[in-house]
Amino acid sequence: MKFLDAEPFRIKVVEPIKKTTRVEREAFIHEADFNVFKLRAEEVYIDMLTDSGTSAMSSAQWAGVMVGDESYAGSKSFFNLRKSVQDIMGFPFVQPTHQGRAADFIMSQLYAKNGGYILGNLHFDSFKGHAEIAGSLPVDMIIEEGRTANSNPHPFKGNMDIKKLEHFIAEHGASQIPLIIITVTSNGNGGQPVSMENIRKVSAIAKAHGIPLMIDAARFAENCYFIKKRELGYKDKTIHEISLELFSYADGCVMSSKKDGLVNIGGFICTRHEELFPTINQLAIINEGFVTYGGMSGRDLEALAIGMYEGIQEDYLEYRIDQVAYLGEQLSKRGVPIILPTGGHGVYVDAQKFYPHIPQSEFPGQAMVIELYKTAGVRGVELGSCAFSKKDPKTGKVIFPDLELVRLTVSRRVYTNRHMDVVVNALADVYERRDQMKGLKLTYEGPIISLRHFTAKFEPLS
Ligand SMILES: *Cc1c(COP(=O)(O)O)cnc(C)c1O
Repeated sequence: MKFLDAEPFRIKVVEPIKKTTRVEREAFIHEADFNVFKLRAEEVYIDMLTDSGTSAMSSAQWAGVMVGDESYAGSKSFFNLRKSVQDIMGFPFVQPTHQGRAADFIMSQLYAKNGGYILGNLHFDSFKGHAEIAGSLPVDMIIEEGRTANSNPHPFKGNMDIKKLEHFIAEHGASQIPLIIITVTSNGNGGQPVSMENIRKVSAIAKAHGIPLMIDAARFAENCYFIKKRELGYKDKTIHEISLELFSYADGCVMSSKKDGLVNIGGFICTRHEELFPTINQLAIINEGFVTYGGMSGRDLEALAIGMYEGIQEDYLEYRIDQVAYLGEQLSKRGVPIILPTGGHGVYVDAQKFYPHIPQSEFPGQAMVIELYKTAGVRGVELGSCAFSKKDPKTGKVIFPDLELVRLTVSRRVYTNRHMDVVVNALADVYERRDQMKGLKLTYEGPIISLRHFTAKFEPLS
């Protein structure tokens, strides 16, 4: 029996959230064209749209906000941040950016400008876009177990496929591969972790071929916690030690501090190569701001310097990962089909299993998101036929994605398990009424299909 199995914090500041009636929510979602991105946040009771930039800061971080140094050059808060990052990640050269995608842009300018293939476990969209604009082709090489909505209990579904990596290098030649990126945890398949063994092996292969290795570190602390819990040889190590080892295998990292940095905005790019740093600095100067603030305010730099340490506290990580697991377990108990094991930052519901009678052309994931919102004011997000469909460039025919998922993302230090119970009860209720559910018709999608989920309009089918 564990006695201390609850939040490792008490609440000092509260933000009221509004409860609404089903009739009100039906009007709100109608007004929003049945797209939850177009709701006003105050029309939402429990917001599970994303874990990005939605964390609650601690009293220590808010105190940091008050002492943030807003100097244009040489801000004390920059040196505090640099010290935190050097200490936790081990990289000597640290450039702040306004958020993660700006670090992705700088990385693309360093490594993606001369064509070739950039290999990764699952690349994040913002880097993918920057790599393509710079002239390189991003290629995903996640292991098979990480690919499908099966319940294979593989503990590290974010791992890169080592055989595929070796074959690819042998086939195309190392000169065609300017960079390898490992994203920890793997955002693209639900925050699934990457093992230390996998990172070590990828690093050895990269080194043997002279290919640089970067880490996309947005959820590095959550990944380190999974390593501690699941990988042989790490149970007695601190998260700090695991983090230092993880980054020791890489040439640098990009970070969106809106995730494990426990702040609401910001990011950075790090390298161990002094010769690259002047280019990084000058790209930051023209796009972000002077090198010691990089698009962040002094108070945000200060809050991040503190958040980096809070993010690697084991008490906090245990609560964090357990809360996501709790949500998954309770949903599973009620029969809701989810992807197992749950990852670090949210639960993914298999919408095609949930609504087998609704074809992908009628958006079963979106239908679930809408019904969950109407039922309890819970805002999830569809990652399926609206978000990920493509068009055949020749015939114009829509190609639907393999997976039809709905993501329920858990913000850090924001909601309690009683909120999770609301989500479970609401979704279980939606599931019990699944047979009566009908799909939706897309009535507007905007000019770029890959971005249509943000602005799409729908009508319910009757
Ligand atoms: C969020 C995220 C990014 C982009 O960061 P922003 O701060 O949103 O610009 C890049 N990579 C991963 C893995 C992310 O989760």
